[in-house]
Amino acid sequence: MQLPVLSPQATLAQHQHSRAFGDVALDNYGRPITYVRLALTDKCNLRCTYCMPENMRFLAQKHLLTDEEILRIVSVCAGFGVRKIRLTGGEPFLRPNLLELIREIKQIRGIEEVHITTNGVGIADKVPDLVRLGVASVNLSMDSFDKNRFHELTRRDEFESVHATFHALLESNIHLSVNAVIMDGKNSHDIVSMAELTRLHSFDMRFIEEMPFNGAKNQSSPAIAWNDAAIEAHLRSHFPHLESIGRTESATATMYRVPSYKGRIGIIAGFSRTFCGACNRIRITAKGILKTCLYDNGVLDVKQLLRDGASNDELRERLLDCIAHRHKDGIEAEEQSHAHGELFDSMSAIGG
Ligand code: SAM
Ligand code: SF4
Repeated sequence: MQLPVLSPQATLAQHQHSRAFGDVALDNYGRPITYVRLALTDKCNLRCTYCMPENMRFLAQKHLLTDEEILRIVSVCAGFGVRKIRLTGGEPFLRPNLLELIREIKQIRGIEEVHITTNGVGIADKVPDLVRLGVASVNLSMDSFDKNRFHELTRRDEFESVHATFHALLESNIHLSVNAVIMDGKNSHDIVSMAELTRLHSFDMRFIEEMPFNGAKNQSSPAIAWNDAAIEAHLRSHFPHLESIGRTESATATMYRVPSYKGRIGIIAGFSRTFCGACNRIRITAKGILKTCLYDNGVLDVKQLLRDGASNDELRERLLDCIAHRHKDGIEAEEQSHAHGELFDSMSAIGG
């Protein structure tokens, strides 16, 4: 990917005219925007306690983006330099035509990579389709490899099914990351055994800080026991030779490796927000709202804009305008959201 040589101080407007198809848009802090996370639905077949209440109320179908709307948004974003799309949710595999949608997104000029984040329920037999479609990577959420704890955390008895997906992905050539949100006393005692899985298996085992998006309408972010420093210290006490690999540009996970182990270990400081300085992503929620930061409360109703008849040029200008007014980081975005009395949603509507 070739980045335009733009100074961080330059406004986007100054550069619109000279940019060819696909040149990368920079935000107001000079960060290139190359990655869109799309929540295809808010519906889910699990009820992870950190993500949503048992009695979650899901959106009516008419509030979700249609396939045509999704494809328009992606092609407009590709036109200003987005190269990577992650399909998420809710559970993306609950979208009936997911595979066809992947195929169509992959055909959009400029899009180089399609990734998926899934809970893995009932999809082991879909892994060959993902390989055939050229899906670049799968993030599989598994907060415990203990069947009972998995059930407690997800409120559903689906461990065997998800474990089968884990093995199907391991045996495929798709890059696999397993994501576990770490909660004190709930699965914190599983950290070492999950990290130990990387001894024999070549995948990334990533531990995520718990964030305040559980659908309980938190007013403020409580402190968390298992932040990135605590997770790292815990890992080092069991793996004294743990090597730091660091973080690739704009990635959220800080990576580690135990010498001679086949896989890698990652920590994602989503609550501490240590990676915002290199953030290259924007989000489209299940309702079709643009978020330029996970912690903002939505900055543009893209779905409404499309349904009001906006042209692709108008959509592009509105999206670029939002990109030119991003928050510096997730701390600032959260402060502004709370200052406006706004509350955080469930992660299932945002897409993680
Ligand atoms: N259903 C899919 C899944 O679980 O992978 C995709 C959607 S889920 C909202 C995307 C990611 O967000 C998952 O890795 C999940 O663990 C993470 N997540 C959900 N709620 C979270 C929270 N409160 N704090 C941190 N991560 C969370
Ligand atoms: Fe569903 Fe994923 Fe939320 Fe769990 S984290 S309830 S699997 S959307």
